[in-house]
Amino acid sequence: MNVHDSDRIRRMIQDAGYAEVQRYEDADLVILNTCYVRENAVDRVRGHLGELNRLRREGRVKRVALTGCIGAAEESAALRQTYDIDLVLGTHNTYELAEFVGLPTMRETYTPELPGTEGGHSAFVTIMTGCNYQCSYCIVPTVRGRMICRPMDSVIGEVENLVAGGTGYITLLGQTVDAWRHEGKRFCDLLEAVSESAPRVWFTTSHPSNMEDRTLRAIGERDSIVKRLHLPVQSGSDRMLKVMHRGYKAERYRRKIEIFREAVPDGTLSTDIIVGHPGETEEDHEQTLRLVEDCAFDSAYIFKFSPRQGTEAASLPGTVPDSIVQRRFLEVLRQIEQNAFSRNQHKVGGEEEIYIRHGRTEDGKAIGETWSGHAVHVKTDAAPGEYVRATIESAGPHVLYAGEVDTSV
Ligand code: SAM
Ligand code: SF4
Repeated sequence: MNVHDSDRIRRMIQDAGYAEVQRYEDADLVILNTCYVRENAVDRVRGHLGELNRLRREGRVKRVALTGCIGAAEESAALRQTYDIDLVLGTHNTYELAEFVGLPTMRETYTPELPGTEGGHSAFVTIMTGCNYQCSYCIVPTVRGRMICRPMDSVIGEVENLVAGGTGYITLLGQTVDAWRHEGKRFCDLLEAVSESAPRVWFTTSHPSNMEDRTLRAIGERDSIVKRLHLPVQSGSDRMLKVMHRGYKAERYRRKIEIFREAVPDGTLSTDIIVGHPGETEEDHEQTLRLVEDCAFDSAYIFKFSPRQGTEAASLPGTVPDSIVQRRFLEVLRQIEQNAFSRNQHKVGGEEEIYIRHGRTEDGKAIGETWSGHAVHVKTDAAPGEYVRATIESAGPHVLYAGEVDTSV
């Protein structure tokens, strides 16, 4: 979501006549578009602000703006003062940046209707903003507000424009995309409609309570949908899920995964897990490990609990000591990597159609994605957005390695 917001900011300031540079020293204006989900994101921003302050005193950088979720948090007032920031904007008033860079004010620019990046081979399309859940640990509802769903026509219109302009890969975006609903339509209706128009579609992030079985089946049935599901579980313990206000039990999550595995046998499944939420006991942690084993995730983002001021969890008793959090983190990580490694081994020897994404590895290989949603490193000169076919020669826990590209197809 931040990458998408940064794209829009980039286009806006380019419209104002700015060109992008790679080093702070070369910039007249620096915009830090920020995340507030965990404290380490804020620490990093403080580091950047300190450096920018110095460069500005030396006359090398002229102006600094802070946007995104930190800008929407109360803490931004103190940061503004400490680092003498010129402009602080939250998530709902980014359009004010237009005036700051000398463009006419465009209030409508930063509504959910603003199109994503056009002309690129892949694009994000926001279908909803905000979130109606109140997970104990999460600052998102505070900084992004309540859920607003974008009308179906508007989404489809944008997708059609993007595809007509050459975009081949659409990612539908939202904090809880599967909660999308509008005028009697639900997320699966939207996904199916988008999959009719776009050659390749993915969506993130989903919430287990909103995930319908028919959506899981649609992933398996529709050729243009990437067979990859990101479904954050957070914990395997019913007790913790309740404390977190997640709204489902581990058993219901397991059932969803069974349906997914049955409907999409070759698909990949990833999740988010928080370790060390206040009150998490050894038994809760054991249950998370058990769920991780049962679901055999292909990958996971594992987070150490980070207290966010203003959330319920920040003032809950039962802080888990750092050393225990670290051990639990490593235990979950080890379990995930073991599962992922053995699942990836099954892909070795198979031929895959690979979509080439942006970026290259250090040894010059292209980074691609299979239809099953696996990341692949492949030796090819094909440009981002193109497809190649190659056989998978080996696999690690995070990535598959393809051999020579098959040029006969
Ligand atoms: N909306 C998505 C959902 O409900 O799963 C996730 C959005 S959140 C930006 C991404 C992930 O960050 C969450 O799934 C959670 O695992 C993690 N997260 C959020 N708040 C956190 C906190 N205070 N400490 C540690 N991890 C956190
Ligand atoms: Fe945060 Fe996701 Fe929970 Fe919403 S559903 S409060 S974004 S973790």
